[in-house]
Amino acid sequence: MRAMKLPLALAIATTVGLSAPLFAADEDYRIVDKPLTLTIHFHSGDKIVYDSDWPVEKRAAELTGISLDGVASMATQKSADAFNLMIASGDLADIVGGNRLKDGFNQYGQEGAFQPLNELIDEHAPNIKAFFESRPDIKSAISAADGNIYYIPYLPEGDFGRMYFIRQDWLDILELETPKTVDELYKVLTAFRNDDPNGNGKKDEVPFLSRDWEEIVRLVVLWDARTTGSDTFHDYYVKDGKVVHGYTEEEYKTGMMNLAKWYQEGLIDPEFFTRGKRSREVLFGDNLGGMTHDWYPSTTSFNDSLADKVPGFNLKAMPPPASPSGRQLEEHRVIPVKPDGWAISYTNEHPVETIKYFDFWFTDLGRRLSNFGVEGVHYDLVDGKAIFKPEVLNASDPVNAQMWNVGAQIPKGFLQDFEYQAQWTNEMGLESIALYEAGDYLTEQFLGVSMNPDEQNVYDKYQGNLLTYMLEMQQIWILGTEDVEAGWDKYQEQLDKLGYNKIIDAMQSAYDRQYGS
Ligand code: CA
Repeated sequence: MRAMKLPLALAIATTVGLSAPLFAADEDYRIVDKPLTLTIHFHSGDKIVYDSDWPVEKRAAELTGISLDGVASMATQKSADAFNLMIASGDLADIVGGNRLKDGFNQYGQEGAFQPLNELIDEHAPNIKAFFESRPDIKSAISAADGNIYYIPYLPEGDFGRMYFIRQDWLDILELETPKTVDELYKVLTAFRNDDPNGNGKKDEVPFLSRDWEEIVRLVVLWDARTTGSDTFHDYYVKDGKVVHGYTEEEYKTGMMNLAKWYQEGLIDPEFFTRGKRSREVLFGDNLGGMTHDWYPSTTSFNDSLADKVPGFNLKAMPPPASPSGRQLEEHRVIPVKPDGWAISYTNEHPVETIKYFDFWFTDLGRRLSNFGVEGVHYDLVDGKAIFKPEVLNASDPVNAQMWNVGAQIPKGFLQDFEYQAQWTNEMGLESIALYEAGDYLTEQFLGVSMNPDEQNVYDKYQGNLLTYMLEMQQIWILGTEDVEAGWDKYQEQLDKLGYNKIIDAMQSAYDRQYGS
């Protein structure tokens, strides 16, 4: 398409006397001769609806000739409700998008509400096609049970998310080394608890804390257990080609027994189930907290923000402590494909133009636009690289919030550029990434399965009660209400009664079909 368009563009450029290279580059992205407006229903994260006035959207319209007219309204607050209401009405916009829509796209796509995109991509979307060829795993992950692709996903980039952080200043005060194994970690946390690293003469330290109680449960990973296979807590994972849930395994029992012990000995925040989202601000801010497992961008900011309040405060990333088998696993990572994106509805009379428009966002220019905003306004191109302008980097709002406000970084079908995040990550964040990169602590992720209606029915029937029971037992065991060893056999029987094996059979058949066994 580009090769054919270029001479025409040059001819026009010459005629109107514009500088040829600039005009040719822009013209290269034009999809339609006559401007075309498509409707879009885009409602995401309960807070974002598509806005034709976004500078990113306006620039894309200039380049492609296609404008999107947003028809979703914030009058409906919940994005899921907005999607379901639109589906129920049968009155679909040309393009439908938002977050957590994978299951909806695939279910209603197979029922005819959305157009299958496979042929459209093959024939008209060279950049999307090239991406899927480079990541067949992602292509499999988003495909519906009938083998079709019904949406173009949001593809985050950058593997690292949560990491272990420990108070280096406390280690120094107590003359301790960074713990390398779970046994060494136990000794260090015990010392944090007993040896008064905050120096106030009181036994008030909270050795391990988290703003998410699920992160306390995740400590069982230190005893070779698993809690999830994806960036969603309590998810299934794949072990040697088999779908399993970590909360059914022997290693989990060992982990739970140790976790109950740690809790009883005061190594874990006694209020971890209830303390909530500001645990770090409160416990680090009062010089009481010793360690956490959390996202590096926000956690690495505490050394600066608490510098005056807690003199010497020094939180440092540490490698995952080795388990009894010697495994050093960072279970969390940024998932390479989200259940977010956009699809073409069955009523759309311009599917070819629409898939070309989707493809525009996978070109170099479209990708910069969706990651960094508008060239010359939000970023400059320096040696072929998009570099945020100082006024963006130095503004009081975080860069991601600024980008959302102009229509960049919203979860439509686009490929994120990690460079966007690296440019506003502090030095400690970059060092933490380097540490985890060097250690190669991450593992493969389970990208989910697309179940057929029979499998989905089994899953829907059992999954809710099963997970509720698993989580109830976690709480009972960690808080010491019941002994783990004593209750384990009964727990296993109950999992079976609640349909665990039926769910596994359904997911395994979907998994084998989707990924090949
Ligand atoms: Ca103390």
